Amino acid sequence: MEIGETIRIDFMGVTFVFEPDDTGIATIPIFWLAGISNINESAGAMNIIKRQSDHFEDRANGARPDLLIIHYTETRTLEDAEDYFLGRKPHPGGGRVSTHYMIDRDGTVIQYVDDDKRAWHAGISHWNGMDDINSHAIGIELVNPGRKYGYEPFTAQQMQRLVTLCKDLMARYGISPHGVIGHSDVAPERKSDPGELFDWKMLAGTGCAVWPQPDEQDRRVAQDYVRDESSLREAFTKVGYNPKADLQSVITAFQRHFYPEAFKDPEQVGKINGAAAARLHWLVRNRPHL
Ligand SMILES: [Zn+2]
Repeated sequence: MEIGETIRIDFMGVTFVFEPDDTGIATIPIFWLAGISNINESAGAMNIIKRQSDHFEDRANGARPDLLIIHYTETRTLEDAEDYFLGRKPHPGGGRVSTHYMIDRDGTVIQYVDDDKRAWHAGISHWNGMDDINSHAIGIELVNPGRKYGYEPFTAQQMQRLVTLCKDLMARYGISPHGVIGHSDVAPERKSDPGELFDWKMLAGTGCAVWPQPDEQDRRVAQDYVRDESSLREAFTKVGYNPKADLQSVITAFQRHFYPEAFKDPEQVGKINGAAAARLHWLVRNRPHL
């Protein structure tokens, strides 16, 4: 690089431009200094540690994965979650649980169940007319203390590894960005992970999820959703949410994923407004044809 040259860095879908200052030295961003320099990491190069869990079975009817379900562990450490996935300790919720992948806060990726097997992460859930989500999904757990132990933002290292992993799995199994969703989307009455601190917009910027960009048309139709509960319910069902789930729980799950602004004001949580409804309509009209 020439002295005085402008540096452009693409990082997780965002282009950072660093202009040299009058010393001719461009400012290097903090995360670069922190050692996250593997910006163009390819999945093939990603080091995935394998620790086999016996908490799995065959996918029903030989299903192939067409959903990626993002979770948080709600544990203080990776080891605490691993205790459950490897059966070293019984899960407090009863039953046995597992996941395909877990990403630690430092970016370490561990695989517990082969992609072609059915891991036990989603529990009772529903999406897009399907009930057996575990047969249709790959589960990805991000280590986070969650609501139980003090919910924290996800780390840049976790998000970077998640992007690499998602890109690889989406390419390998033909999974659409519309199929990358949260646990709370498929189980809105029971679950709130990965929660409102998970940056879906950033993930969508990398092509690994969708983020609505409503226009005038969306804002117009959104008024019907705000006024009329049945049209709101119908829209949620078209996007994939369980038509039988409690409507306020569905609104809250939708806000966690697509309208996290709501969580700045507790009064807004669980209540639809025009801006959130416009994003919902964008999703309705851009959903993949089934
Ligand atoms: Zn979960």
